[in-house]
Order: sequence, then C-alpha cells, then structure tokens
Amino acid sequence: MEKKNFERPTITKLTPGIPSKHGVGIAVAPVQFIDGLKVDELIEKYGSPLYIFSESVIRKNVNDLKRAFSVRYPKVQVAWSYKTNYLDAICRIFHQEGSWAEVVSGFEYEKARLNGIPGEHIIFNGPGKTEAELLRAAKEGAYIHIDHFDELFLLAKVCQANSVNARVAIRVNMDVGIYPKWDRFGFNFENGEAWDAINRIMANPQLKLMGLHTHIGTYIMTTDAYRIAAAKLSELAASIAQKFNHYIAYIDMGGGFASRNTLRGAYLSGEDTTPSFDEYADAITSAIINSQIKPDKLPTVILETGRALIDDAGSIAGTVIANKRLTDGRRALIVDVGVNLLFTSFWYDHKINPTQSHSGLVEETVIYGPLCMNIDVLRPSIMFPPLKTGEHFLISRTGAYNNTQWLQFITTRPNVILIDTNRKTHIIRKAESIDSIVSNENIPDHLK
Ligand SMILES: *Cc1c(COP(=O)(O)O)cnc(C)c1O
Repeated sequence: MEKKNFERPTITKLTPGIPSKHGVGIAVAPVQFIDGLKVDELIEKYGSPLYIFSESVIRKNVNDLKRAFSVRYPKVQVAWSYKTNYLDAICRIFHQEGSWAEVVSGFEYEKARLNGIPGEHIIFNGPGKTEAELLRAAKEGAYIHIDHFDELFLLAKVCQANSVNARVAIRVNMDVGIYPKWDRFGFNFENGEAWDAINRIMANPQLKLMGLHTHIGTYIMTTDAYRIAAAKLSELAASIAQKFNHYIAYIDMGGGFASRNTLRGAYLSGEDTTPSFDEYADAITSAIINSQIKPDKLPTVILETGRALIDDAGSIAGTVIANKRLTDGRRALIVDVGVNLLFTSFWYDHKINPTQSHSGLVEETVIYGPLCMNIDVLRPSIMFPPLKTGEHFLISRTGAYNNTQWLQFITTRPNVILIDTNRKTHIIRKAESIDSIVSNENIPDHLK
C-alpha cells in the first residue's frame, strides 16, 4: 500500500452571520458619546480619523491605582511611563495627579524636564543611556536604574571624572514563572548577578544605592508573578540591610499590569479576565510586608504602570471609505484608520462599534485600513453591521503605545484631542501636514 503524505491539520473557522439555524446575528450596540460628547460631531469638527482622550478617565484610573495600593501599604509613588504615551498634555495630567516620570531614553528625559519635572522625580530606565545622559541625570539627582555591568562601570567613570555622586538602583530580572523569561534587561537574580552588582555599588562611595527595580513584562495576567517578583526584591533588600546596615528607599515594581483589551486569539474578553488593581496590589504588598524587611524600614513602592492607566482613556474615531465582497463571500470594510495609526491592532482585538445604531444584518466582516499594503488589517474577523461609506465608528482602548509607536507611513498623522473634565475639547497634537514631514528633509544642490 502506498504511504500517504502527512498533511498538517488545519482548523477552519465557520462563517456565521448570515441567517442560519441559530437565527440572525446579534446587533452591535453603537457608541455614540465619549464623556457626553457626540463622536460624530467631534469628527465633523476635528476631522477623521481622530484620536480622542478623556481627561476624567485618566484621572480616575491613576487615583484607582493609588487607592488600591495606599489602603494596603504605607508608601506608594506612581511614575508615569513616558514611552506608553508621551504627548505632553497626557504626561501633565499624570504629573498633576502626583506622578513622577519614568523615562527610557535621553529624549524622554528631556521631555520630562520640559514638562517641569525635576531630576529627583525622574526614574531613568533603559539599556541605552549615553555618557552625557548619565552625567546630566547624576547631576540632577535622577534615579538611574542601571541595566548592565558596562553601564555600571561607565557611570562609575563619569562620576569619578566629574566628581559627582549618582543615585542609583539596579534593574533585576528573575524567574517569576512566566516563559519565555525576560532576561535581556537588568541583572539576574537567580545566578547571583544582581547581588554582585549590589556589592559593587555598595563598594563605590560615589554611587548611592536607593532602590531595586524590576519590570517583569507587559500585559501580565497573573498576579502571582508580581508576588514572586516582590518577594525576590524584598529578599535582596533584606540581604542589603543585613550585610551593609543600609536600607533602600524604594522597591520599584515596574509596569506590566494588563489593560482590559482582549488579546488576539484569546477565548475570553479582557474585560472578564484582567485582574483588578486591587488584586495586583494584594500580591505585591503582601510579599513585601511578609518579607524579612522590618516594618519601620519598609521601602516606598514605586509603580511604573503604563498601559493599564491610559489604554481605556483613548479611542480612535474613523470613517468608512468603502464596502466590498471578498471572493470567499465575506464582507470587507475599508476604513480610514490604518495599522500605522493603530499599532496595537497587531496584538489586540480592539473593541469597535458604530457610532449610530444599525438595523442591518450583522455579519462577519474584515476591516482593512487605507494603506496600500497587505498587512493593513485592523480586524481579520469581527461581527459587524453594514456601515456605509461615510459612516463613523469608534475603536476603544487605544490610549497605550499608539501615540508613541505610530508610524508616519503613506499618510500623515491626524489630530489628537483631549476632552477635559468640563467636557471642553482641546487639540493636544495637531494633524501633520506635508510641511511637518518634509521640514527635516534636505535636498542636495545638484538635485534642486
Ligand atoms: C514599558 C515600561 C513600563 C510600562 O509598561 P506597561 O506594560 O505599559 O505597564 C514600565 N517600566 C519600564 C521599565 C518599561 O520599559
């Protein structure tokens, strides 16, 4: 008998939506308003597509986070993660709420200083700090979070050559039960590297060990990972106290709390599965309180929460350009929001709603952006009503990373507006023009 070739098994998704034995697809509820303002009217005034931020949601989120920790633990400090969203207006809302700045480059450091944040309220993370940036941060009293031994030696050299002291912490990576492990940043806990770095810092009179830092990953759904991380940092803190009689000022737990977005391919919605701030706070604070650190020496807990604070404060409103049928019968929408404006569509199934109610048949739809690129797919599959050309929709929970990782590609980037707590709207980043793109270009004489 002839041996058959192995064929990889495949799973084919059935296409629901057209009336079937299960009936007609359910309606998709419209989202007409943000903070009491009509989305359609915002588009009319500011253009489409349009990034929209809610100041009241930001303020609520950061206060929810602070409350969750401060009822469980005496000293908490939030530091806004600039790379998550460094639009100045957004940063300033966080700073008004008492957040420090957490930056990962000289550019972000400068942005924080221009936002009025003094060095001693800046946490300087990242693996790529230059000599000049280290010197400035040391002089301004920022908390320099050392990432690797070469940086430690470079900083020691900078301090020596300029007779300045630096306030430092080390970033620690560790096994927290999440794989693959993030071990490319910081000093490893398990193999003794972190302890080695601590001892070298303690032996250098110009380096002042202020704290211990970790950032275990992003969109971490298991609070237990934070419990393990906090326990390991506390163990280091207790060892430092024992050997050097030195008490660190803070334990910085980094960011990584999940937002309520749904990951691509997840079975359950993020709204149902994301842990609350209270659950994260429980895990972290109980690990520190139950450690060998004495109660009167408890360090401040610093939080660098990014996406969980800003994701649901931002949305993108857009417009349908066209409707078409694909050869396999599926409906497709072409819209004016591309993946260049919604970077996070590569890993989230964003919530997308029409801005008006629709009586038409809900059916499986592919949503494409306007770019002339095959990768420009906002949603490979969504149950969606038949929006017509010119009608509007709202993509929710887009506040994290999209305004920093966006790409100027094929089109220019549109207006970003803020709805303040009095429901007044403000442009916080104006739409780019051809001039904003070409102003940094230069044409050599022979091409003029
Ligand atoms: C990106 C980053 C954060 C914020 O992470 P989220 O997952 O958005 O909360 C915090 N700290 C450091 C060091 C980071 O690199």
